[in-house]
Amino acid sequence: MSPATRARVRERAGNRCEYCQLRQEDSPLAVLHVEHIIPRMHGRSDDLDNLALACIDCNLHKGPNLTGIDPETQQVTELFHPRRHRWDDHFQWRGLYLTGQSAVGRTTVRVLQMNSEDQLALRCC
Ligand SMILES: [Zn+2]
Repeated sequence: MSPATRARVRERAGNRCEYCQLRQEDSPLAVLHVEHIIPRMHGRSDDLDNLALACIDCNLHKGPNLTGIDPETQQVTELFHPRRHRWDDHFQWRGLYLTGQSAVGRTTVRVLQMNSEDQLALRCC
């Protein structure tokens, strides 16, 4: 992936995680990653529409996952896709906690562990 592509993804994302919205300036010890929304192991490429900016916590917990189990319905559900889904349709802040507003949101909050102690610690300061 070229430096220009990485720069384009970072700029498009406003320099914040496209999943939990952590800003780069609030994560001084870890650089936000350019990640593959659909991992290369599933056959997707470095096209801009398959790339997103993600914090290290979201990226590590997402791993190669494409789906998870919705904690409310117990149905297999796709994860949030930053290029196809609107963040506001699927997530909402309740204080420091991120809550899912849809099956996609609930499943993504669960799989990416978006309210982990590490995540909460970065949000509180
Ligand atoms: Zn994140």
